[in-house]
Amino acid sequence: DVCVLGSFMKDLVASAPYRPRTGETLRGTGFAEFLGGKGVNQAVAAARAGATAAMIGRLGDDRYGQEFIDLLRDEGIDASCVVRDGELGTGVGLPVVEPGGANSIIIVPRANDAMRPSDIARAAPVIAASKVLAVQLELPVEVSFAALRTARENGVLTLLNPAPYTAIPTDIHPYVDILIPNQVEAEQLLGYPPDGEDARSAVGDLCDRFGCRGVVLTLGERGAIVARRDPGTGMLDITPVPASAVTAVDTVGAGDAFCGALAARLARGEDLVAAARFANAAAGIATTRPGAVAGMPYLPEIEAVPRP
Ligand code: ADP
Repeated sequence: DVCVLGSFMKDLVASAPYRPRTGETLRGTGFAEFLGGKGVNQAVAAARAGATAAMIGRLGDDRYGQEFIDLLRDEGIDASCVVRDGELGTGVGLPVVEPGGANSIIIVPRANDAMRPSDIARAAPVIAASKVLAVQLELPVEVSFAALRTARENGVLTLLNPAPYTAIPTDIHPYVDILIPNQVEAEQLLGYPPDGEDARSAVGDLCDRFGCRGVVLTLGERGAIVARRDPGTGMLDITPVPASAVTAVDTVGAGDAFCGALAARLARGEDLVAAARFANAAAGIATTRPGAVAGMPYLPEIEAVPRP
């Protein structure tokens, strides 16, 4: 049902009293490794939320790459369009987390950056067989473009999560059905912050600028706002969707949990507002757990959340 084009990043996290200065060797206080990358996070979120999922991406022919292959197998995600790059290693992220949780991160995309439109040409049958294609901006933008176009040509619903924000060439806009930014990305796309009452006009603005069918703006603990354009009348419908009341302990990957769960529901033919309610429930659970991939909730847990 859901095909995700995106990144794989192995995160090697050091905890330290502060970020080291040039030339300094600093003793850290902790270390942890996680499997991450927006692409694989969203694929796992979609699969656990009940979708049949496939992933398109590039890994190194190395130990980390094998860890991701094992993960995809364990999660039941089709990896037939995941290429092992013989030259470049698997992408890595090197965050340093300071006391209190502030972090800075070096990412080295490696194999992710070697994705080419030709990879999309090879994956075209898998895209065409899907109901929904989900794309982020962690891969070269021409690759995302090729995938969105392939999906559109085959009548597949296209979702773009513009994260991390990268300037999006306007010729991509017509190939996006549903745009899913967070507040930071919406501000970067629009040039003004979508705060308070303005958030309602911001989603309308984004819908107009992209000429897309829908926009889902995620607002952290305030949930999301959904804009839908009626294809017949052109009328815009704007619906706020509240978040679930949870005690968040780790919001890393919340946006990915949201996008993956939303994709899973849209693939079933659910309407955008209902899918956003489900996605809020899923992302809310994800924030109560450490880790991104590890914290992605399963369908029965999501269904057990009372929805407004
Ligand atoms: P990102 O993780 O990309 O920064 P957001 O902060 O907007 O994106 O969070 C995405 C979604 O995660 C929200 O729409 C909401 O469903 C859920 N979420 C995030 N933080 C919280 C929170 N503190 N309480 C409940 N839900 C949350």
